[in-house]
This record gives sequence, C-alpha cells and structure tokens, in this order.
Amino acid sequence: ETITVAELANRMAERGADLVKALFKMGMPVTVNQTIDQDTAELLITEFGHNFKRVSESDIDIVASTEDEPEGTLLPRAPVVTIMGHVDHGKTSLLDALRGTDVAAGEAGGITQHIGAYQVTVPSGDKVTFLDTPGHEAFSEMRARGANVTDIVIIVVAADDGIRPQTIEAINHTKAAGVPMIVAINKVDKPGGNAQKVREALLQYDVQVEAMGGEVQDVEVSALKRTGLDELIDKILLQAEILELKANPDREAEGTVVEAQLDKGRGPVATILVRKGTLKVGDIFVVGAESGKVRALIDDKGKQVKTAGPSVPVEVLGLSGVPGAGDTLTVVENEARAREVAEYRAGVIQRKRTTQAPANLESMFSQFREKQAQQFPVVVKADTQGSVEAIVGSLNKIGNDDIQVRILHSGVGGITESDVTLAAASKAPIIGFNVRANAKAREIATRDQVALKYYDVIYDLLDEIRAAMAGQLGPES
Ligand code: GDP
Repeated sequence: ETITVAELANRMAERGADLVKALFKMGMPVTVNQTIDQDTAELLITEFGHNFKRVSESDIDIVASTEDEPEGTLLPRAPVVTIMGHVDHGKTSLLDALRGTDVAAGEAGGITQHIGAYQVTVPSGDKVTFLDTPGHEAFSEMRARGANVTDIVIIVVAADDGIRPQTIEAINHTKAAGVPMIVAINKVDKPGGNAQKVREALLQYDVQVEAMGGEVQDVEVSALKRTGLDELIDKILLQAEILELKANPDREAEGTVVEAQLDKGRGPVATILVRKGTLKVGDIFVVGAESGKVRALIDDKGKQVKTAGPSVPVEVLGLSGVPGAGDTLTVVENEARAREVAEYRAGVIQRKRTTQAPANLESMFSQFREKQAQQFPVVVKADTQGSVEAIVGSLNKIGNDDIQVRILHSGVGGITESDVTLAAASKAPIIGFNVRANAKAREIATRDQVALKYYDVIYDLLDEIRAAMAGQLGPES
C-alpha cells in the first residue's frame, strides 16, 4: 500500500519538489524516490485540492478535478447559485419568488418539494440551480469539507436597511471562496428604500457594482412584488456564460450531498447535486463512508425520474446510512467495490479523528494549499474598532514579496460560529485580541481544526504571525 512521491506527483500533475516540501512540513522528511503510505498519499491529494479514487487495495487513481475528461465530452451545464445576506433582507422570499419563475413547474404538475436545492427552467429554456439553504454558514461549512458547489453567489441587500453585519460577512465569505457575486438590491417597492445609497455603501467593502464603474453586476428587485426577477436571471445567465460552466454528462456520476436525513418511511435519504456524469436508477455508489444502490430518484417537484445529469439536484433513495452535507457521491462498478471503499473511508475518517494533532499554528503550516501557498489568510476579531484597525494595518505591513497576510474578515466582538466556518474554509487561524470565542465557536473550531489564537499585546501577535509566515514559506525560501 505504498507509492513513490515521484509517481504520486506525476499522477497529480504537480511538481515532485512541492510534494516533498509539503511532506517536510507534515514532519515527514522524504525524497521524491521514497515511498509513502496510502493515508499520507490521500492527505496530500486532498491538500493539493484534488480528488482521489481508490482503484484497488494497493493503488490510488488520482482524479484531477477538471482535467480528467477527454476532449470534446464537456457540455454546458446550469449554474449553481447560493443566496446570502443579512437576516430579514429577503433571502427566503427571493428564493420563493425565483422558484415561481419556473416554466416547467406548471406542466409537470408536481408539488414543490423542499429537498435543499431546486432547478428552474426560464422561458429561454436555460436552467438555473438554486441551493435553498440561504446564508453563509452552510456555504462555508460545505467549502470547509472541500465541496465548492456554488458557481455564483447572490448577495441580497434590503434597500431600506443597507449594509449590515451579515451582509459584510456574506461578502467576505464569497470573496474568500473566489466565487463571483451579483448584488440583488431587494425591497425596492418600499418607501424609504434607497438603492443608490446601497451601491455607494458597497464601495467601502471593495464591492464595485457596474453603475459605480466596477464589474459586479447589480439588480433592483422586489421579492414581494416579484419585480426585477427576469433581469436577475439574465444576469445570472450572463455570469454563467462568462464562467463557461461545463461537465461531461456521459460518464459515471459524481455528486455532492446537499442535505441528508433519516426518513421514517423511506430510510436514509440524501439530496445529491450531480457535478458530472449522469446518475441513474440502479447505479451502485459510495457516499462519504456509506454505500448503496440507487433505488429511486426524486426531483424537486416530487416526481420520480430515471436519471439526473450535471447541476441537477435529486433525492436519492437506497443508502446504507446517512452521509454528511458536503460528502462526495461516486458511482462505482459493483457492490463489493462500494463496500470496500466505504469501509476504507470510514477507517480513514476514524483515524483522522483520533490521531490528528490539536489545532495550533504548527498544524496549520501543513495545511498546504496549491492556490494560495503564498498568502497567509487570517480572521481578526478585537475588542474595539481602534484595535481592529491597528492590527489589520500592522498585519498588512509584515508581508514581503514571498508571502502576504490576507485578512479574510475583521471585526469588533467575540469570535462567533460564522468566523470559524469562514476560517475553516480557508484553513486560516483566528486572531482574538482581548476577545474570546463563544462555546459554539469553540466546538466547531475543535471539530474543524481551526486555530484560535488569543493575544493582549499587539507586539506578541505580530511576532507569532511573522514566525508562522516564515514557517509556511519553508526552509527552501
Ligand atoms: P430572510 O431572513 O433574509 O430569509 O428574509 P425573509 O425572506 O424571511 O423576509 C423578511 C421579511 O421581509 C418578510 O416579512 C418578507 O415578507 C419581507 N420582504 C421580503 N422581500 C420583500 C420585498 O421585496 N418587499 C417588501 N416590502 N418586503 C419584503
């Protein structure tokens, strides 16, 4: 159950030296020609942002997320959209209103099912998929589990209330994920609403909408009066076109769990958002540490369907147990195989839980990531606005040409659940200056291995972060 570093690097299409560097930081000084065990290989693969498939007891087949499809097999797929924003700004109302624009709903005659996601067909025939758990917690939780399912985020801002704390959080979560946003200025039917004020206020948070000379699309809507919805959908489709979203529908399916529960009558049920391939009744699959055979597929209108292609959300029946949101579903060739992979994954999950080091800055260095290796992401919370500004200002200055601090979010007050999910998704530590984390935040931080660092002297804080940044760069630099 071993593979050489060179061979693994080859399959991942990464540089051998980068793997050696990452291994070194994990406390494993090896050369490219030495072998590593399966667990370590899996850890590396995940950390470099690839998926893996186990083909046999002794082999791992790396599936690089986008490069594994033969030329010419990729076809356009519907964009997957998440709605975020401050409480009461109209996220749920907008989701309902958008759902009402579905031209396919009437003819299907089905009853609306809330399965965690739905797809609408617009008059042009184009389709858009919406995740219907609004808010940034679910979004970042999924991302922390490696499931980047959202293509576009809609930030809802009530015209009569303007930018509020959760609006800022939503903007920061979206930026940290690198997902394009569209601003929906809602409640424009209300007297006292001022859309232009919202556009201007967004500038403070580095969001420049088109009317202000920027590139972020914005649209005035009323979820209540159902106005501006066509325009919003047009902007989603335009953004999707720019993103050139594609998938191969003609292969074994791979998807992500959007939600899952134990249903009294039907047993374990999961809503799967198909990412690539086509999921079919009768398919044998592994999902997280569970396995199964698709007994039935039910769409968001409550209708039984035989297949579901890319970007289509479906309820899947026939699971051995309840998987977690963000888990990946992979179709495999037979049941023996499915059980084998599921058991193996359960073992890996168990081992990871029991052997992983406590959260600290050290363990964070090993969270090597391909894309932002030269950025040092942090979340900053402090007791006063003055401290926040002083800390953010100093942190922005301690970088050099090789590495820079990236402030994912900063604010006044204690460390909350939302701070932790944001930090977890970007594998960033949280800096608390004269503030602490609440109980729920601590619990999630422990589970997701987020480092909580408390300080009361700015000098100490800067010293430690400087050292951690040097550590991330490694001995070669
Ligand atoms: P959420 O907390 O962001 O999901 O917000 P909701 O969708 O629950 O909406 C909060 C409140 O705002 C509800 O009372 C809605 O009826 C109201 N609301 C939502 N959209 C609009 C709108 O476009 N115009 C007006 N006047 N009220 C709205």
